[in-house]
Amino acid sequence: MESIKTKGLIIKSSDYGEANCMITVFTENMGIVSAGVYGARSKKRGLGASSRIFTFGEFLFKNSGGRLRVEEIAVREGFFPLCEDIVKLSAAVYFADLAYAAVGMHNKDNGVFRLLLNTIYALCYNDIDSDVVKTVFEFRLAAEGGYLPVLDLCAACECEPQGEIYFDIERGGILCESCRRPGSIKLTTAAHTAIKYILSAEDKKILSFKADNNVIALLANISEQYISEHLDRKFKSLDYYKKIKGSN
Ligand SMILES: [Zn+2]
Repeated sequence: MESIKTKGLIIKSSDYGEANCMITVFTENMGIVSAGVYGARSKKRGLGASSRIFTFGEFLFKNSGGRLRVEEIAVREGFFPLCEDIVKLSAAVYFADLAYAAVGMHNKDNGVFRLLLNTIYALCYNDIDSDVVKTVFEFRLAAEGGYLPVLDLCAACECEPQGEIYFDIERGGILCESCRRPGSIKLTTAAHTAIKYILSAEDKKILSFKADNNVIALLANISEQYISEHLDRKFKSLDYYKKIKGSN
């Protein structure tokens, strides 16, 4: 039986049978894979606590006829703050859903892997509103997939807009006043600058921008429509996140 060692982040975990569980892991070397953790809930094997969703670590898999079995998980980070904060947890579940939809099974994508990991880390340990983390993740995930919005010139007539500017989800960028269409979203200068920053800043500085609540609300609306348009999907976990966030 072939052994495979790789770093990975569990993005789904469900019990199955009496003592086992199935996990979906975003791995560094193989992309997203499913694997069985046998005896996960038996005290003897001790894999139970480490097969929780959002455990990050070094995984040792055995491949038997195309099915993966977890032999060992050396936990590097348990992201425990997620267990104590339902808003953060629901945001993390939505991010994992987005990553899964963007990458699919068995496609190695270290850009998205790193983005997801850094985002969950920021969500847990940086004192930043989850809506900001969310909008940054949505924009950067779209960019990782090659859907970088046009932000300097009008996406229709290619002029440099002088007056008001609008963001158009379907056109994938900004529109000038004469090209705006019904449904285009009016952008403030602060929101325009923030989107440019989010898409160009280096990873470490990505969350260090300041914006007031109106700007964040505007960005959040644009980025979630933008990523949903490109992945051609709606996400129940987004509705759930918004419901929980709204009532907290
Ligand atoms: Zn135009």
